[in-house]
Amino acid sequence: MTLELKNRPTLEAMKTGRERMRQRCEEVTKAILKEAGVESVEYHDKGLRGLAIVKKRYVYVPTPTTRRRLYIVAHEAGHVALKHTGSLPVHRKEYEAEIYAHDALRRHGVAVPAKSTIRAKQYVAYRIRQAVVRGAKAIDREALRWTRGYWHWKVEDWVAAHYPRMVPR
Ligand SMILES: [Zn+2]
Repeated sequence: MTLELKNRPTLEAMKTGRERMRQRCEEVTKAILKEAGVESVEYHDKGLRGLAIVKKRYVYVPTPTTRRRLYIVAHEAGHVALKHTGSLPVHRKEYEAEIYAHDALRRHGVAVPAKSTIRAKQYVAYRIRQAVVRGAKAIDREALRWTRGYWHWKVEDWVAAHYPRMVPR
């Protein structure tokens, strides 16, 4: 038997691995929802999207069968946990929910998939772009720093004009 063949996971092993991950994600989902104070949850199978109704402590999230789906659960739970009902700018709330989600997965021993981090930064960068286009007077500096490398050119121009010391050199 060659080394290559010996090291290749069998279909059976892959299935078992996926099944184990699914169970892990379900357990971690329960823990995260509880910690966040989510009172009702509905699951869907319509892709990597979610929503939270903070006042009702309600989230609508993907069935958490994978880490990327679990990440969305943690993001929406974050809005509830952080009581995002007030007047914070949207880009700041989304940034906080992304950081909450990263911390929540790590706290439960689940590595955040690189694709989830990239998607999160793209999303916050998009919210920052919206704020800039709508004429925001200020942009959260932490959120800007976290999304560096994902800024839209309009955001780059805005930063150059308003926070020149943040412009990468
Ligand atoms: Zn959000």
